[in-house]
Order: sequence, then structure tokens, then C-alpha cells
Amino acid sequence: MQLHSVSRLENSTSIENDVTIDQWYNILSGLPGQLPEDRDLDDGSASRIDLMRRIRPSSLSDQDRPEKSWIPIPEPVLQHYREIGRPTPLKRAQALEQHLGTNARIYLKREDVLPTHSFKLNSAIAQAYYAKSEGYTTLISETGAGQWGLALAYAARLFGLKVKIFWVRVSEEQKKYRSDYAQLLGAEIIQSPSMKTMTGRKTLEQDPNCPGSLGIAIGEAVEYTSQNKDCCYLSGSNLPHVLMHQTVIGLETKAQLANLGVKPDHLIACCGGGSNLGGFIGPFLPEKEKDPEQLQLHAAESTAAPRLTTGQYIYDHSDPLGLTPLTLSYTLGRDYVPPAVHTGGLRQHNGSPVIGLMQQHGLLQAQAYDSKEAIETGRLFCQLYGTLPAPETCHALAAVSKLAKDSDISERRDTLVACYSGNGLLDINAYSSSNSTITIS
Ligand SMILES: *Cc1c(COP(=O)(O)O)cnc(C)c1O
Repeated sequence: MQLHSVSRLENSTSIENDVTIDQWYNILSGLPGQLPEDRDLDDGSASRIDLMRRIRPSSLSDQDRPEKSWIPIPEPVLQHYREIGRPTPLKRAQALEQHLGTNARIYLKREDVLPTHSFKLNSAIAQAYYAKSEGYTTLISETGAGQWGLALAYAARLFGLKVKIFWVRVSEEQKKYRSDYAQLLGAEIIQSPSMKTMTGRKTLEQDPNCPGSLGIAIGEAVEYTSQNKDCCYLSGSNLPHVLMHQTVIGLETKAQLANLGVKPDHLIACCGGGSNLGGFIGPFLPEKEKDPEQLQLHAAESTAAPRLTTGQYIYDHSDPLGLTPLTLSYTLGRDYVPPAVHTGGLRQHNGSPVIGLMQQHGLLQAQAYDSKEAIETGRLFCQLYGTLPAPETCHALAAVSKLAKDSDISERRDTLVACYSGNGLLDINAYSSSNSTITIS
């Protein structure tokens, strides 16, 4: 007995962090309604649904609508999860509590400590594994701010696969160090728009100086994959299978809180496509259903793309060119061009249909934070802890500060648990130029 507890202590930073997760949770099984089917346009154009099925690994398409509530994590994926440092620590943020002078208790789930600096690796490893199992040799994807591209570069390396990333040109130039990092890991980085695809060539013909956009990059990645054998197309957010892989975050958090004997009152995450939010809060849906008033689930979005707070719940494409199927989610319209802010991961016109369904059923509380307020909170956090939160993460931290104040005003002593989605060292120019906006896609 005693020996056992000694070795448990030695193997982890603290006893509460010593948890083992070997299954993902199917978030859809915890939702009250059915996830609406994707649709194609009825204008006679080629089926986007078929195209996506053809260029994606079929195990991943199947995981968009799993039959069971629990999906075993394949052993090679589990092994890599252990090697990259899962379980990640759940840490009480006492210095922040003291600085805020709050009675609320604040816990942070530290996904920023993973290699490549963000939670994106959780799904990148799973997706690379399934691609390899199905015999693909090359992974194709697009990236904006680059956290996804970087994570995929490392995941591909772990499974001995090649990877080509269409990286929005202006972002690649602004996040040069992240791109260098991905290339160091062996990724081929292609500035988009590029000459490699018809989509890219046509765009450059019209505007040789086109800064690129995520939509154009998606278009290029999809076109390239459909024309090259042994390649498959992967996505870093929005899709139900991506959110499912990310439930490892919420499942660990749940077990860690249980080890501490702590019951959360508020769960908070930033929300772009919705994968860290969905993965973090998804496993708590049964608790939310049991006691809807006790547990509050919060989405912190950017005022640059306030989908959940001001968008419409309608069918829309995930990309501005309309190459992807129509999905039902909160959207600002695919022509919406977000103002230029540094929070690349939160700047998109629509989000995950899974998050949309949660919002429709009144399970979420969404609030938009502007980048100035978010970056200020990040600066404070940096000064307290010496580590730099990603600009996206700063939105979740801004929400934490606000909820701590609310808790004090109403004289409660709430327990706030937030997902600390990534490290912002390679986004440091977001901090140095936080008073001026820059162009970024
Ligand atoms: C990609 C990213 C996000 C936003 O993506 P979601 O799919 O909404 O989770 C948030 N934080 C970091 C650090 C990211 O890299």
C-alpha cells in the first residue's frame, strides 16, 4: 500500500494529476438532440460530402457519428499520449486568485505544456495514426496561425509520414518561427496561394500579391489531396471526430478534480472552431444534464468573430469558397471577413456543429472578449507565472477574471476550471503590438 503511494508520487507532479484515460467520449451521446446531417448544395454541383469522404481517412469520417458512447484509444496513440506528457497537469492558480483578490478557486488544465505548445497535438496524433493504419503516406492540411500545422508536423514524424501544409501566406510570414519549427520537424510548408493548385494559380493570376486566406488554403489542400495518390486530407477543428479526440482533456480534468474531491461550478474554454471547448466540457455533459443550474459551461470567443453571441444558426460552408459540405452551426456568413487581430485560432466565420447543438439546447454561456482585454489578461498571467499564454487562451483567462468577480459580487465561492489551451511564445508579437492591429488570416 505504502510502496504504491510512493511510486504514484514519484511518477507525477502531484497525486491529483495521476490519472489514466484510455477511452475517448462520444460527445454526441451526451447531447439531448441528434446532430443534424450535413448537406450538399442542390444546384447540381459535385457532392462535397462525397468528396470529403473520398479524401479523408474513413475511420475519421466514421468517428463523426460514432455508435457507442465510449471509443477505446488505440494503444499506439495511448503510448504517444504518455510520451508527450499526458496526463497534463491540473493546477490551482493561487497567484492569480491572490492578485484578483477573489474568493473563487481557480484551476487551470495546462495543455500548453505539450510539445509544439498546444492541445492540437491530441487530435493530430490520433489522425496521423488512423491515416497510417489506412495506408496513406502523406498528410495534407491547411493552417492559419499555425498551431495545427505545427502539431501535425510532429504527429506525422511520430508515425513516419510525410506532411504538406498549405499555410496562409500572410500568417506564415507573421509566424515565421512557428513555420521554421514545423520545417525542422520535417513538414513541407507551402505558402498559400501557391502555384501547386488550380485554386492557387487562379487566385494569383487575379492578384499576384494576394495575402491568402484560410478559405483559399482549404481549397488548395482539398484540391491537392484529390489529385495526389497516397495523400489524405485532415482538419484541425470543427468536425465531431476532432472534438472527440480532444475529450481526453475533459476526461483527465474530471478524474483529476475527483481525486481532489473538487466539484466545479464553472468550466471555461476559448472557442474558435470549438475543439478545445468541446473536448474540455463534453465529458461533463452528463453532470450538466443532472443539475443544469449547478454547472455552468462557458465559451469565450473573440469580438473579431462573435459567432455564438451574434451569429445565426443556419446551414453554411466551413470555408469561404464553399468547397466543404454545408453544416448546421452558428455562423457569421461565409463572406464575413473578421477584423485583423492576432488571435488566429478564434477568427473564423463558423464553428463546430457540435458546439452549435450545445448552444441551441441552452447548455452554453457565450461571451465575446476583445483582443485588448484578452491580451491584457495574458500579460498579467505572464507576470504572475512567467509563462506566456497563447492569444486564444487569453480569452479564456479574461473570462476567468470576469467570473471570479461575479462570484465575489454574489458572495459565492465558486470553483472555476479553465482550459489553458496553448503557449504563446511564438505569438509574442501579438503582445508587443497589442495596441495596433495587424493583418492576419
Ligand atoms: C487552435 C487553437 C484554439 C482554437 O481552436 P478550437 O478548435 O476552438 O479549440 C485555441 N487555443 C489555441 C492555443 C489553439 O492553438
